[in-house]
Amino acid sequence: MNNFIQTRGSDNFHPQKADFEDVILNPGASFGGLYTLEHIPQVDFSSLVNLDYAELLKHIFSALNITLDGDILDSAIGRYRHFDDPTNPAPLVKIKENLYVQELYHGPTRAFKDMALQPFGVVFSKLALKRNKKYLILAATSGDTGPATLESFANQKNIAVVCLYPKGGTSDVQALQMTTQNAKNLKVLAIKGNFDDAQSILKSLLKDEAFKTALNEKQILLSAANSVNFGRIAFQIIYHIWGYLQVIKSEKIAPNNAGNFDKKIQIIVPSGNFGNALGAFYAKMMGLPIEKIIIASNANNILSEFIQTGVYDITNKSLIKTTSPAMDILKSSNIERVLFALFGSNRTRELMESLENKSYYQLSAKELATLQTHFSATFCTDKKCCETIKESFEAGYLLDPHTATALKAAKEFCSHSPTIICSTAEWTKFAPTITQAIFDKNFSDKEAIEWMQKQTCQNANNIDESKPKGIAKNIAVPDTIEQLFSKPIIHNEVLDQNAIKSHILSWLEDKTIEG
Ligand SMILES: *Cc1c(COP(=O)(O)O)cnc(C)c1O
Repeated sequence: MNNFIQTRGSDNFHPQKADFEDVILNPGASFGGLYTLEHIPQVDFSSLVNLDYAELLKHIFSALNITLDGDILDSAIGRYRHFDDPTNPAPLVKIKENLYVQELYHGPTRAFKDMALQPFGVVFSKLALKRNKKYLILAATSGDTGPATLESFANQKNIAVVCLYPKGGTSDVQALQMTTQNAKNLKVLAIKGNFDDAQSILKSLLKDEAFKTALNEKQILLSAANSVNFGRIAFQIIYHIWGYLQVIKSEKIAPNNAGNFDKKIQIIVPSGNFGNALGAFYAKMMGLPIEKIIIASNANNILSEFIQTGVYDITNKSLIKTTSPAMDILKSSNIERVLFALFGSNRTRELMESLENKSYYQLSAKELATLQTHFSATFCTDKKCCETIKESFEAGYLLDPHTATALKAAKEFCSHSPTIICSTAEWTKFAPTITQAIFDKNFSDKEAIEWMQKQTCQNANNIDESKPKGIAKNIAVPDTIEQLFSKPIIHNEVLDQNAIKSHILSWLEDKTIEG
């Protein structure tokens, strides 16, 4: 079913329309655009309340005409069995009246990237196998994408992964999640430089014809599993619907006389590249009663500025390093699919070309009004983020710095409707920021995690007056995180940027990719 079209129109070289399989394996579209859904169907959500997660996913994929072979889809969905609660991979926690946190971090790497990358890795590998093609997948990471990609593709057939990360530029936990990965088809390389350097190496390799030719001689194709791949977005629509249906059930809301749910909710999303928020947008377009999707940014507030003013402006903007690094971003790629859905391909091409040529674009007043019927936005400084972490901990709920930006937004956008905050990472991935915010202690990851564990034990024995007033209940550290600190390091190469290419090619000499 060719139900994907191109956000910037067609140059007649790329296929004008494509199906889900093609979109996953060949994501690049005309004029530097993306493949995206041609039609967004209306869905009757009231009939879906009693489906389990796998059934819901299949129902929505089928409504969207997202077609995959049944066995491929089943093994992809099977990946949710590795989540804390296989029947509920994205649980909802009520933290106060009308306010829920949807914890999207119960997968193997403790960040929400697992929600999409876990099943996506299976789909990609099985499609590669089906077409008898071998792929090298490149990833550059500032912390969460790397571990989730490696975990997803470990030992998968027909795939090798090289993951580049900036030496010293991630948290210790994130670095260990990568460097302790022990699978023959994975290679993790630290580079001397920052995340921008890692990303520019990735981009230059993806364009490097000599590199591609050298790979092709080995019968290997080059790809990147980045967050604009619709294969990842598709899985991100489901948990928003799941969250809504859980609210309906927990508040015992009945359908209206026409048999539909009309109870509205708000969803608040800590946003970077806009994949998570785009999933919510599609759910809303399908008829899920979402009043507004609220975008939370950090001090890199280009996205929130855009939604407030209609101006996307990165002239004179440089990246600020914050305590929520997964949201440190200037160009938020998935916005392009929203522009397409609301304003069509001609206008999208015009706006995106303006961004590329002038680092700037502006919506008309009418377009802005349309955008704002779906989205609101705000941003959060590091100072406010730390205050929010402390306050929430004392009120009984521990959250990570990314999720804190969303909780802060919830206070600004209070509503009579139930609000769901997307929690995008477990606190264990950002423990030093947590102990700094709550206890004013400057620790390494290991020290900070141990310190937090001590808090639970001591609190269980005694109420210490010098401690914060309340104490969060959700402090437990999963074994996978605890064990990281004693696992052997497999990948310890630190390379100059210009040594990466030859290093990858010589690694691929060995029989790295297994069919
Ligand atoms: C990737 C990530 C985000 C940003 O998600 P987008 O889909 O890129 O907007 C937010 N928080 C955490 C912890 C992440 O890893």
